Amino acid sequence: MCVLALLLWAARPAVAQDGDESSAAPEIDWSAASEEAADLLSRYIRVNTTNPPGREIVAARFLRDQLISEGIEFLLIDQGEGAGGGKAALVGRIRAGREPREGAIVLLSHMDVVAASPEFWSVDPLAGEIRDGYIWGRGALDMKGTAIAQLMALKLLARHGPPLSRDIILLATSDEEIVGGIDAGDFLQDHADLIKGAEFVINEGGTIRVDANDDVLYYGVGVTEKSPFWQSVTARGPSGHGSQPIAASALNRLVEGLERLRSWDTPIQLTPPVAEFFRRLALVAPPAEAELYADIEGSLADPEKRALILRDRYHNAILRNTISITALEGSPRTNVIPPMASAELDVRLLPGADPDSFLAELRERAGADGETLTIEPLGQNWPATASPSDSELFRAIESLAEEFDPGATVLPYVLAGFTDSHYFREMGIEAYGLGLFKLPVSESERVHGVDERLSLQNLGFGTQFLYELLVRVGT
Ligand SMILES: [Zn+2]
Repeated sequence: MCVLALLLWAARPAVAQDGDESSAAPEIDWSAASEEAADLLSRYIRVNTTNPPGREIVAARFLRDQLISEGIEFLLIDQGEGAGGGKAALVGRIRAGREPREGAIVLLSHMDVVAASPEFWSVDPLAGEIRDGYIWGRGALDMKGTAIAQLMALKLLARHGPPLSRDIILLATSDEEIVGGIDAGDFLQDHADLIKGAEFVINEGGTIRVDANDDVLYYGVGVTEKSPFWQSVTARGPSGHGSQPIAASALNRLVEGLERLRSWDTPIQLTPPVAEFFRRLALVAPPAEAELYADIEGSLADPEKRALILRDRYHNAILRNTISITALEGSPRTNVIPPMASAELDVRLLPGADPDSFLAELRERAGADGETLTIEPLGQNWPATASPSDSELFRAIESLAEEFDPGATVLPYVLAGFTDSHYFREMGIEAYGLGLFKLPVSESERVHGVDERLSLQNLGFGTQFLYELLVRVGT
C-alpha cells in the first residue's frame, strides 16, 4: 500500500523571461559543481541501501532533503515495508516556465545497490571514501553516481537554468536489483499520473567506452533490451542404486534434453537497432573488425566471418535468442539415482520475438513430452520494445557528444540484460540508457564487483553533459 508521506509545493519564483531568452545562460562554475557532486555522492554511498532489504526510504529522504534545500517541488511516496523494508519512490520536479510546453523528461535512477563483500575490497564499500581522484564504494557506478549527476543537474537548473519548455522530473525508485520487489513497475501502476505526458526517460543502460589511453571510442546509448523468458526444466524417471544404471533415469533424461538445447544453433536475426549498431561500430573499430561490421548482413551470411563475429559474447547475444543452462540440480550422492532432476534456462529474446512460438520450439527440440521431461516458464516476461535512434533526445546526445569529443560515434546500444526502461517503453515513453561516465572495460567491470569507484573527473563530466543535454532538449 502506498502512502503519500509529504507534499511540498515549493515557492519557487517563476524564472524571469522578459524577452531575454536569447542571452547566454549564466556561467556555471563547473569545478565547484563537481566538488559539490563528489561530496553528495560520498554521502549518498554512505546511505546503506544494500538490497535485500534495501531500505530505500532512507535514500529517498536523503535526496528529498537535497531538493528541499534547492526549493524544488517533490513528492516522497512511502511504499511500505514491502519485500522486507522501507520501500519508497521519490519524485522531484522543475516545471516548464515557457510556452509551448513539450513532454517532460524523466531522470530515472534506482536507489538500491547489490551487496558488497568487504573482505575483498581495498576500502570500506559503504564509507564513500574519496581517494586518489576517485569516489569509492558500492553504487558509485550502479547507479548512485548517475543519480547524483542527475540531482546535481537538477540543482543547477533550479539555480541558474534558462526557462524550460519541458518539466524535468527526477524519479528514484526501489528494488531494481532484486526480482519480485516493489520497483519502478509498481510505482507506475499506482502513480503513472505523476509522469503523465512524459516524452523521454533517461536511465542507466548505456556507456561511454574509452580505450586504455582514455580516448573515447563511442557513446553507447541504450535503445532497447532483450527480454528475459526464464524456464524451469524438470525430468522424472525411475530411481535406484548407482551400482545398477537406469537408462531412462531422470538425470539421463535431463542431460539428453539439455544437450539438445545446448547444441541448438538458434537462428541469427539482424534487428534494425543491431544493424545500426554494427554500421556505426564499423566507423570506429580497428580495420580488420570494421571490414566485418561494415557489411554486417554479408558477413553474417559467410560462415567464416559469421563465426568471427559470434565469437564476441555480446555480439552473439544481440544477434539471436539465447539460452544459458543454469541452476542444475540432481542427486546429492554418488550412488543415488534420484527420481527427479532439474535445471533452469536463462532464455533471452530479441525484440520482436514471439515467446509462445519460442517456447513451443524449445519444448520440441528438447524432446519435452510434458511428463518425463517438462519445460515451464518461470515468472514474468514482457515484449522487448525499442526506442528510436532518431528522436530529438537521441540527436541532441549526438550533437553534444560531437562537441565534447569531436569525431566520437554515438551507437544505439542493445542491452543483453535489462533495466527498468522497459516499463516506460511499454507505456509509449521513449527511454534511453545514457552512460554519463567515460569508462574503460576495466572500470565497468567493477559494477556489482569489487572496488567499484567513479573518478571525480567523470562525475564532473557527467553532471555537465547531462545539464547541457537538458538545456538543449528542455528549453
Ligand atoms: Zn543498476
